[in-house]
Amino acid sequence: MPLLEGRTGIIFGVANKRSIAWAIAQSLAREGMRLAFTYQGERLKEGVESLSSTIPGSLLLACDVTNDAEIDAVFGEVGKQFGRLDALVHSVAFAPREDLENEFVKTSRDGFKLAHDISSYSLVALSRAAMPLMLQNGGGSVLALTYYGAEKVVEGYNLMGVAKASLEASVRYLAANLGPQNIRVNAISAGPVNTLAARGIKGFTEMLKHHAERAPLRRSVELEEIGNAGLFLISSMSSGITGEVMFVDCGYNIIGL
Ligand code: NAD
Repeated sequence: MPLLEGRTGIIFGVANKRSIAWAIAQSLAREGMRLAFTYQGERLKEGVESLSSTIPGSLLLACDVTNDAEIDAVFGEVGKQFGRLDALVHSVAFAPREDLENEFVKTSRDGFKLAHDISSYSLVALSRAAMPLMLQNGGGSVLALTYYGAEKVVEGYNLMGVAKASLEASVRYLAANLGPQNIRVNAISAGPVNTLAARGIKGFTEMLKHHAERAPLRRSVELEEIGNAGLFLISSMSSGITGEVMFVDCGYNIIGL
């Protein structure tokens, strides 16, 4: 029997077929999970719709994660259609381009707030909204996406590194808070992949090349590998793991010199 037969999940962060969220969705759907997808704004609707329609029985809903009313509406609809929820995938991040490109010391107050709101606080807001539906079935699993720049300084990552550090700390605090209700919260720290969000990072192509040269596996991580690691952390195969940030980066993070 497929691993996730009869299970349901919601995926935040599909923009196109290169999105990490889409890779994770495909792995979850392959194992039988029924999925709801959200898209940010009308501009992305058509693209996400054409992807989600390839997965039978899936839902498509609009959600800007800075908008509490939209978050409530999304989980209201998921409750109506699915009646329960087993998984939440948070694959969302944003920082204004000038705050990524400027020297870090020049980070603007508004940019700092927006980056943290979209890239970190939203994990707390979405987990809270998902909780009642997860408790319908005795628990659930939440997964977020992060990057090495949360731990170490990576040139060009700047404000996003600080927002990811906040996201990773939120993973641990949420895991401790929701663990007694059998809700697990984990993150994947992915190696660089060429996506829409990644193109906002100055020098991304050099970063990709550097990773492939230095990583123990001597290559960049594939989207499908991140998808399958997501499947592991969402499914009961990882039932003893919570509050963890798991690297899926071909081993790059273990190298010192
Ligand atoms: P992507 O551009 O495909 O996905 C980013 C998503 O964030 C998009 O779908 C976008 O619509 C969404 N988003 C931004 N602001 C939003 C808002 N206000 N409301 C709702 N959604 C919003 O790029 P990706 O690389 O797949 O990024 C997914 C996650 O993976 C991000 O958290 C990113 O930081 C993380 N990540 C990416 C890499 C990489 O190299 N690509 C590496 C490690 C971690």
